[in-house]
Amino acid sequence: EGRTRFLEAIKEFENGQLDARLLEVLCCEGCIMGAGMTTKEQEFKRRSRISKYVRDCLKYRNQGQWEKDMVYFADLDLRRSFERDDKRVGIITPDIDLRPILERMGKKSESDFLNCGACGYDTCLDHAMSIYRGLAEDEMCLPYTIEKLKQTNEELEKSNSKLSDTQQQLVQSERLASMAQMATGIAHEVNNPLGVVLMYAHMLKDQCKDDKQLGEDLGMIVEQADRCKKIVAGLLNFARQNQVAFESVDLNEIVEKGLQIVERPKNIAAEIINQMENPYCELDKDQMVQVLVNLISNAYAAMPDGGKLTITTGGNDFQVWFSIADTGIGIPKENMPKLFQPFFTTKKMGKGTGLGLAVTYGIVKMHRGDIKVTSNADLSKGPTGTTFTVAIPRAGRRE
Ligand code: SF4
Repeated sequence: EGRTRFLEAIKEFENGQLDARLLEVLCCEGCIMGAGMTTKEQEFKRRSRISKYVRDCLKYRNQGQWEKDMVYFADLDLRRSFERDDKRVGIITPDIDLRPILERMGKKSESDFLNCGACGYDTCLDHAMSIYRGLAEDEMCLPYTIEKLKQTNEELEKSNSKLSDTQQQLVQSERLASMAQMATGIAHEVNNPLGVVLMYAHMLKDQCKDDKQLGEDLGMIVEQADRCKKIVAGLLNFARQNQVAFESVDLNEIVEKGLQIVERPKNIAAEIINQMENPYCELDKDQMVQVLVNLISNAYAAMPDGGKLTITTGGNDFQVWFSIADTGIGIPKENMPKLFQPFFTTKKMGKGTGLGLAVTYGIVKMHRGDIKVTSNADLSKGPTGTTFTVAIPRAGRRE
């Protein structure tokens, strides 16, 4: 409304319809709403307000002070002078290149010229011309500013979620590193006495060949001590205390081997998708097969009612990767941060040591690689299942 009144006043002044030599209109630069109006009241009401204000002032004035003020300000010159400064938006001439300004305003194609008037100008070109003359700013284009804000907001959200992911990974790595330290200590302490137990159990077993019952009992000791040895070896693997024997291998062959080793339940289908042009990389063959065996076994265990296992391989010049996806029950959200911790298992007592994923994590880290997991256990949010992705540098490190 202010903008319309502003234009009307100028037109009337120009046509000589106003009986005034000076028209002073309120026109602030940079206001997206156009010229502002101080009140919505009608003209006479405004006048009567001013009269009342003056009458009140006269009523309560201090006559002595007023006279003093009159003398004091007698020399004050209240005249005002004006200089001509034509700020009207000129006709756009072909020699003025408004393109850079229009670009800044986000007007790149015809459909961007909304000519909505929200900036106080009738058209986007008028607005651009005013910017050219230093009378307006780019940000006054509301649709553009809103769009930009949206973009900035989206970018902020993305970097925020990246930041919190990285933070979580850091916390996880730190926790696993301190666990690894503890695991190494325990493993080294247990390893030697365990070796002695095994050795003497074997010796006794050999000496008691005639006593069947004793032989069976000693066999049990050997079996369980062997199991403990495997757990200790697993702990050392998790703690990255083992050596990595890098050699040049075909990753696809390793994937196939891993798939062959684990017996596939009849109700589960398996598929390998190869997206790799060059399958050769440097890694420890046995350890990587171990990683595959662990992940594939877990995937099968997650599909008790059947499903599909998909192994995808890929890579670029710097790294190779494979992902193992199942259509199983998924991993509950609360278990995700504990997945790679040693001895964490959801399997029944005696069914798993809880070292499989910890060992997998250790082996991948020994290869200077990365392991990521995504999972959905909530059917209302889509198909359930889990995908582990392992990425390792194409060239191994030789110490
Ligand atoms: S607000 Fe933007 S889109 Fe609307 S007229 Fe002004 S410059 Fe054009």
